[in-house]
Amino acid sequence: MSEKRDYYEVLGVPRTADGGELKRAYRKLAMELHPDRNPGNPESEARFKEASEAYQVLSDANKRAHYDRFGHAGPGAGFGGGFRDVGDIFSAFSDIFGDIFGGGGGRRGPGRGDDVQTRVSVTLKEAATGVTKEIKVVRNVACPTCNGSGAAPGSLPEPCQRCGGRGQVMHAQGFLMISSTCPVCRGEGRVIRDPCTTCHGAGVEEQQEALQVAIPPGVEDGSTLRMVGRGEAAPRGGQPGNLYVVLNVEPDERFERDGADLHTEVSVSFPQLALGDRLQVPTLDGDVETEVAPGTQPGDTLVLSGKGLPRLGARGKGDVIAHLKLVVPTSLSAEEDQHLRAFAAAGGQRVNPERGGLFRRKKKK
Ligand SMILES: [Zn+2]
Ligand SMILES: [Zn+2]
Repeated sequence: MSEKRDYYEVLGVPRTADGGELKRAYRKLAMELHPDRNPGNPESEARFKEASEAYQVLSDANKRAHYDRFGHAGPGAGFGGGFRDVGDIFSAFSDIFGDIFGGGGGRRGPGRGDDVQTRVSVTLKEAATGVTKEIKVVRNVACPTCNGSGAAPGSLPEPCQRCGGRGQVMHAQGFLMISSTCPVCRGEGRVIRDPCTTCHGAGVEEQQEALQVAIPPGVEDGSTLRMVGRGEAAPRGGQPGNLYVVLNVEPDERFERDGADLHTEVSVSFPQLALGDRLQVPTLDGDVETEVAPGTQPGDTLVLSGKGLPRLGARGKGDVIAHLKLVVPTSLSAEEDQHLRAFAAAGGQRVNPERGGLFRRKKKK
């Protein structure tokens, strides 16, 4: 790895830059270096990642203070973390990329690519820790022969003669001038004289692609991740659509999830509750031995604080809450029967003296 450049230098801002300046500088770089604008260019992708890492650190007050004091080499170096994949960057800064590539109301030219939706399953444990999953998506990508322009290599789409590149034509209707979509270029403002032979002028090609999706810790079943610009490429160089990844968090039969908390049930006997004991309570990281105080009641809960899931969009973790379920034996040995009666008698309780006897007599017949 080459030596790391100074984050301020990467973004081209003074060390005194405020949040707004940082954001503007990063947006400008991201627009230039966006991989969909520089397909197959590893240098611009590397610079895009570098700029994203710089922005990630400098836009976070704590990380920035740490970087200002210690630079790249300080204790806890590598806090920038870097990004494995441009998809991570889109997920991390979707607010910024949403601004750049979303909306754009009234834009002329080629349409936006379609959004793509896909599903991915994670276990409850993966939902707790976060995980990177590879997903396969079949979608239109920019045609590699013409780089998505639709025009044969060496030629370019030309401005439409009919509408002068406006995409709209005017008709006189009575006293009114009516504007409608140009029938020649279908509103794109450009026409392709010499279509690319690979994609026949469409500019896109269907491809199965493997994408790495970084799933943050704490996601819920049905949460949707938006990966801006990772949907269908638009015909002839328009903005790509978004990829929406809907998460399916598989149920874990040991737990019932309530936000960041996990409820579980632990079976206990009457002596364990009466005398106190140590119990194994399941958590996502394995069983945890937990104390039950003497005199605990059935239905009481043991709370293992911080053993639940991370809270999405907040600090800390939820709890594991174990509900104690009293299990009464359905049959007793003669010895158990005798001791239980002795226990009741010692406490001055009257229990049905016949029941055990009757039962045994009937069984003997
Ligand atoms: Zn092509
Ligand atoms: Zn036209």
